[in-house]
Amino acid sequence: MVRKIAHVGIATNSIAEAARFYELLGLRVNWAEIHTDQKVKAAFLSVGESALELLEATEPDSPIARFLKKRGAGLHHITLEVEEIEEELRKLRENDIALINETPVRGADGSLVAFIHPSSTGGVLVELSQSVEGDG
Ligand code: ZN
Repeated sequence: MVRKIAHVGIATNSIAEAARFYELLGLRVNWAEIHTDQKVKAAFLSVGESALELLEATEPDSPIARFLKKRGAGLHHITLEVEEIEEELRKLRENDIALINETPVRGADGSLVAFIHPSSTGGVLVELSQSVEGDG
């Protein structure tokens, strides 16, 4: 079962520049982290129970840099929080949905995550996430 939209990931050329708009609406960057393996900096702005995740490449050869080059800044992925990620992946697999991660991998905060290919979702990269400590 999907609980909520955990966050919406947005590819930006500059987190600081993109954040300026959201700050006008009263949002602010609540935390940021660098994923060295993905060569990406991620800044999170809490929005109620969800968040916006602004993404910025830290290296020219990072996946986000390639995305920006190909498609420009904008929506990158949507992350849905689920209760049982293994169960959801099994259902999707049975229905021939193209999974990028066949089995869950460790996400930032220890959560279990798996990406679904946009070709199976109507064009949007979808990330499923199961938090390990019940919440957050
Ligand atoms: Zn994300």
